[in-house]
Amino acid sequence: MPATIQVQSPQRPVGIVTGSSRGIGRAIALALARAGYDVTVNYHSRRDAAEEVVSEIEKLGGRAIAVAADVATSTGRDALTQATLASFGHLNLLVNNAGITSPGRKDLLEATEASFDTVFATNLKGPFFLAQQCAREMIELRSRGVIERGTIVNVSSISAYAASTNRADYCMAKAAMQMMTWLLADRLAGDNILVYEVCPGVISSDMTAPVKEKYDKLFAEGLTPIRRWGEPEEVADAVVMLASGVLRYSTGQRIDVDGGFHIRRV
Ligand code: NAP
Repeated sequence: MPATIQVQSPQRPVGIVTGSSRGIGRAIALALARAGYDVTVNYHSRRDAAEEVVSEIEKLGGRAIAVAADVATSTGRDALTQATLASFGHLNLLVNNAGITSPGRKDLLEATEASFDTVFATNLKGPFFLAQQCAREMIELRSRGVIERGTIVNVSSISAYAASTNRADYCMAKAAMQMMTWLLADRLAGDNILVYEVCPGVISSDMTAPVKEKYDKLFAEGLTPIRRWGEPEEVADAVVMLASGVLRYSTGQRIDVDGGFHIRRV
């Protein structure tokens, strides 16, 4: 039977979206709620913003909780999964979205170990161990017949393959996310957990606000076949599509949401 974008489930599916107080994660949380999900809205420091997302979801008829957690830490990751299970009783989806840019955007020759450690802990170590933890929970829930399948979506970046020498740590961490996605996809397929990478291009958010002028100019010059900024909602729609199970014979797949940036052109 073909899957549809709207989630069909006897119980409301539940998703954790890391870094969903603002930007792309916020749009993902709201789009999932519109598709019938209950959502754990994770934030790092902006509690006010996370609570606003929770109230938007409630207005849409969904349930949501705001959970403060630094995904770079094991205590933060434990808090996220435990709060989700305590509030909703199960878990169907993890979206590893939280991420930070390279602090100070320093040239490669000036890059510091402190920046490397922070970026790798937040953008790679955290997502990997949170995926491990959520996968264990999903396997256990599935063994008890509570859920039928699970989905993990990792939000990477065009920086995984497009070099920016003032953000080396960010680029390297995002590049590693592709192998992380493949490893998880390989290991978890037998447990009916499908794993995907969503690869955004240049998207309007607080993260890219400081480089707005630079990219306005690059878009006007034809940086991408679709000559404009991407919107957080456009990334969110890709996540909802993947979570729907419509691509049920695909796993480890990368979905580019980048206005065609990945196409080599001459
Ligand atoms: P953003 O506007 O800067 O928002 C970042 C979000 O992550 C916020 O909700 C923030 O929480 C949260 N966060 C930051 N550090 C965290 C931590 N240690 N633990 C938990 N949450 C944390 O970023 P964005 O542009 O939406 O980017 C979202 C993801 O897309 C990132 O992985 C980014 O690398 C990726 N991406 C973005 C673009 C782009 O053009 N914007 C392009 C490609 C990929 P608080 O509100 O509490 O600070």
